[in-house]
Amino acid sequence: MKKQLTIALVAHDYRKVDMVEWALFNMEMLSKEKLVCTGTTGSLIEKAFLEHGVKVDITCMNSGPLGGDAEVAALVVRHQIDLAVFLIDDLNAQPHEADIQMLLRQCRVHNVPIACNRYSADLMITSTLWDNEDYTPTVPKYVKFER
Ligand code: PGA
Repeated sequence: MKKQLTIALVAHDYRKVDMVEWALFNMEMLSKEKLVCTGTTGSLIEKAFLEHGVKVDITCMNSGPLGGDAEVAALVVRHQIDLAVFLIDDLNAQPHEADIQMLLRQCRVHNVPIACNRYSADLMITSTLWDNEDYTPTVPKYVKFER
């Protein structure tokens, strides 16, 4: 049986419309998983799903600028996140740029898949590797390259 995934969803204000559209497009799949979201992103997704009569297991952290991204990053460090979808506003400066970079960095360090656009997110959530018991993600190697 497929294991239940814990999926982190974070969207900046100018990317929230896209995030809600993406979540609704994938509602059937997402409603079977556990969602961890920054505050406003989570409440918008929960409301959108409820409008379609769908309840979802969703945990809302603080709002991003108040530490939500940092809380999600801490879960990544503890290996409690299987996949992150992070719709970043690349056209406007964010007050919590340091936290954004931290979340991205910790996903890279801990080899957690992170999608920063909808196409990547669609590809990742439909991957057959989630169900492949023979596949184990590698531990990233940080070794000095010797010529
Ligand atoms: P929000 O946070 O979902 O609470 O708006 C997202 C962010 O700005 O990182």
